[in-house]
Amino acid sequence: MKNIKIILFLTALAALIAGYSIQIFLPGKKIDERVYLLEIAPDIKFPEKKVSPPHYKSDEGIVAFNTYDITPSIRGYAGPIKLLLALSPDGRISGIKILEHKETKNYVHYMETPEYLQRFLGKSVNDPFETDRDVDAISRATVSVEAMAKTIKESSRIVASDVLKIPVKSEEAKKAHDTGWITYLLLFSPAIVFYFVTRKSKKFLRSRDTGLIISIVVVGFYLSSPFSILHIFNLLLLRPSSAYLWYVIVFSTILSIIIAGRFYCGWLCPFGALSEFIGRLPFKKWSIPVETDDRWRDLKHLLLGIAAIVVFISRRVEFGNYETYVTLFSFHGNYFAWSLVVITLLANLKVERFWCRYLCPVAALTGMLSRKDKGYVSRPDCPMGNKPMPLISECIRCNRCYRKSPLAKGE
Ligand code: SF4
Repeated sequence: MKNIKIILFLTALAALIAGYSIQIFLPGKKIDERVYLLEIAPDIKFPEKKVSPPHYKSDEGIVAFNTYDITPSIRGYAGPIKLLLALSPDGRISGIKILEHKETKNYVHYMETPEYLQRFLGKSVNDPFETDRDVDAISRATVSVEAMAKTIKESSRIVASDVLKIPVKSEEAKKAHDTGWITYLLLFSPAIVFYFVTRKSKKFLRSRDTGLIISIVVVGFYLSSPFSILHIFNLLLLRPSSAYLWYVIVFSTILSIIIAGRFYCGWLCPFGALSEFIGRLPFKKWSIPVETDDRWRDLKHLLLGIAAIVVFISRRVEFGNYETYVTLFSFHGNYFAWSLVVITLLANLKVERFWCRYLCPVAALTGMLSRKDKGYVSRPDCPMGNKPMPLISECIRCNRCYRKSPLAKGE
């Protein structure tokens, strides 16, 4: 399998380079703004596009513009959300259309509906555009919805001021609700501290359970932002978000891999936590021969390699989206995706951390990047069902068997 992993890695790398080359030499289809102008303002005739700032202005004083021309730096989870907006002469939104975005469908499906977009019609450029105040937050898409609201607010104020000469409110300080990154850090920091504490003393092993419960509630259901392989795909495709939460999740996870291997899987992943708690229910586990188990564990690497190749060649991140936690915590998926969630959760009754062991792309990635550490011996109650002296890539660092701990010394 080692050779196959190397081949997959090299093929994914070649796919990434090929994807960039295709983009450079065969640029994608250009957005024809005129077509969309007819949709948002069917009765208005717009002359040629003007510059500084780029916009169309009709004889009736209606101004239309592509938000990406005005505020290209505002990004959702996967790059900018490009919109075509029309403003009436008194600075109210009279037309809106999403031109392009690369957000994960699970999180933004509602945002694209005409009913949702119509809620922006009639708003003044000086309205607050704050989620949960005058913009519906669609609770499971905070980063994307906030990026869209910010794009509309900032671009329309610039155009209203420069073209319509309407006095606009200056950009306000970041609002208190944009604090998801602080919430995540408040969970990550004590978790990493307790990770090191539990390497010294078995007394604190229960702290991990407490952290896992909080993670299910906060990272899973409240922030709806578990670390996903889509973060890494977007990073490699140079499509980072402009949300602090995105950066905090990505870079705290990378840091944790460097210092503590699969720490994220064992201490923060809400789906892993849910799987582990289900696995603790009193059902007799299947006894899987070590060789078979090892072979099946390689499946996650194969899936990750295939997903990476497809995403990098197509440059469509959604093609690599098969992660059950994205479906579960976004509350959105098709029948197949939901069936996978149910099957992989129920499977924990018979096989410890079924998804993490055999299928998870994040497990494959964090395992591959884990540095070697020989301090592990494994126990019968290992949450990963590891056998003695497991590969460090299969250890989620629960520290139950860390060799230096009094607990491990007693074995
Ligand atoms: S090998 Fe040890 S530290 Fe790693 S997950 Fe299993 S019990 Fe925990």
